[in-house]
Formats: sequence, C-alpha cells, structure tokens
Amino acid sequence: MDRRTPESDGERQRRRRARNVAREPWQVERDRRRLRPGGLKTCARCRRSLPFHAFPDRTRERDGLDTRCYGCIAAARAARA
Ligand SMILES: [Zn+2]
Repeated sequence: MDRRTPESDGERQRRRRARNVAREPWQVERDRRRLRPGGLKTCARCRRSLPFHAFPDRTRERDGLDTRCYGCIAAARAARA
C-alpha cells in the first residue's frame, strides 16, 4: 500500500462535507471545548447561559449540543400537546 498517493479532489470534498455529520464522540467534545471554552452555552430560545448538561446531545450541531435547553424543549413539547 502506498500511503503517499495523493487524495483525489472528490475524496477531499466528500470528507469536508461529512465533517459536521460523522464525527466521533471525542471529536464532538473537542470541538465543543474549543467553541465554548467557558463551559457555558446560550440557549437559542430563553437566551440563558447554561452548562452543557442542560442541553441534549445533537451530533449534527457544531458543538454537539442542541440549540435549546432541556427546559425550553419540554415547554415546546407541552405547548404542542
Ligand atoms: Zn432555554
């Protein structure tokens, strides 16, 4: 196997597109720490700054967390019912 074979452009583009979708859990956590070094995330709905455990996991988000906190999600669910 020749490891020095350059990647084709198509392969490189495919990898770039998949970056935010198919990350390993440790990569998601690394990005989360890099994006939010303060350890807090602002909820997109109630605008409160809350610790990470107040948000559900969502690997498609860049920081691996849902944009809304558990409280807001529960409120939205209750309003829909
Ligand atoms: Zn909230």
